[in-house]
Amino acid sequence: MLYAMLAASASAQQCTVKPAAISLGQTVRLACRIPATSAKLNARTVRLFPQSNGGSQGLMPIAVADTPGAYEIDFLADDGAKLAFAKLTIRATRFPTQNVVLAPQIEALHSTPEDIATLTEFRNTVSDVKYWEDPLTAPVPGCVLSPFGVKRLHNGQPTGEFHAGIDQRSPAGRPIHAVAAGTVKIAQPFAVLGGTVAIDHGQGLETMYLHMSKLLVAPGARVKKGEVIGYVGATGRANGPHLHWVVDVNGVPVNPQQWVTLNSCSSEKTKPATK
Ligand SMILES: [Zn+2]
Repeated sequence: MLYAMLAASASAQQCTVKPAAISLGQTVRLACRIPATSAKLNARTVRLFPQSNGGSQGLMPIAVADTPGAYEIDFLADDGAKLAFAKLTIRATRFPTQNVVLAPQIEALHSTPEDIATLTEFRNTVSDVKYWEDPLTAPVPGCVLSPFGVKRLHNGQPTGEFHAGIDQRSPAGRPIHAVAAGTVKIAQPFAVLGGTVAIDHGQGLETMYLHMSKLLVAPGARVKKGEVIGYVGATGRANGPHLHWVVDVNGVPVNPQQWVTLNSCSSEKTKPATK
């Protein structure tokens, strides 16, 4: 009896989730001492990848639209058998509303079915080799003009969309750096996103850089962390030069500010002037 209880408690601890309490739009790190191959949270299943120590690890995204509450993440074997579990609390999270003023010809831009298919295929691909390392590097040095998750209005009208990345302040023409090593999957102009580079960093981590004025890489190129991939612009549905960039974890957009430490432009404004 005692042995059974000890065995049960050991199996509960064979996999861990960090952090164990998290806001909507953030990423949970999953790590097991056993070779689990997937992890499941409600209807969302992500792959786990073998580690040199015999364990496994992966990333679980918490979507903006997920429901706060107390959950269990199940860790599964190849055949779907449950090997272990860990508790996760998703905290209630408030996202503010933000209006964006767009010129009529800019507001009228829409994605084509081809654009949507290209982006969907990119998001749905999870590759085996991990090229990324903690910590990620910021793509440009500017402060955050618009955070992740805000509910967007265009010219005062609700869009039903949330901000699926962050906007960093930057003049046009500033170099944009890859936040981690990876493989370029997309490098092309889109109607709404403008000049876009999308990078697969491996094992479920992907980033995209939008509204670029010039692209310096082509699909298939291997890039290093910090490598210049293009320049800041205002192409696509943008009201001025800035860098909008996106972190997708296993196909779900998550908050880049959990991955890279950046100041908000509004907090910078409240600092004493130095000149
Ligand atoms: Zn943006």
